[in-house]
Amino acid sequence: MIPEYAKPGDTVVECPHCGYEWPYSGNNVRATCPSCGYKCKVAENQKGMVLSCEDEVLVDIDEYDQTVRRALSLGLKRGDRDYRDGIAEAFTTKDGGSHEF
Ligand SMILES: [Zn+2]
Repeated sequence: MIPEYAKPGDTVVECPHCGYEWPYSGNNVRATCPSCGYKCKVAENQKGMVLSCEDEVLVDIDEYDQTVRRALSLGLKRGDRDYRDGIAEAFTTKDGGSHEF
């Protein structure tokens, strides 16, 4: 579900051209597919932001604008486990598996 080499704060992008999914760590509007070279729009093809690689949890970011996504990404890249747990409570998460309480 979460691509190999993904890190917390990466946006998972699915290429609409070839279906390849990869972890995108930049802040550009468009990202180049590593598989076929297609330049796809990040916002339209994002599948979530990586919250935890070990637990395979993604934050559902579809409804948030680029400013929020950028802040979230920065926080997740710098944050520790407590920070990530806080984000998991504040934002909708998707996965992976199921979010159990
Ligand atoms: Zn592609």
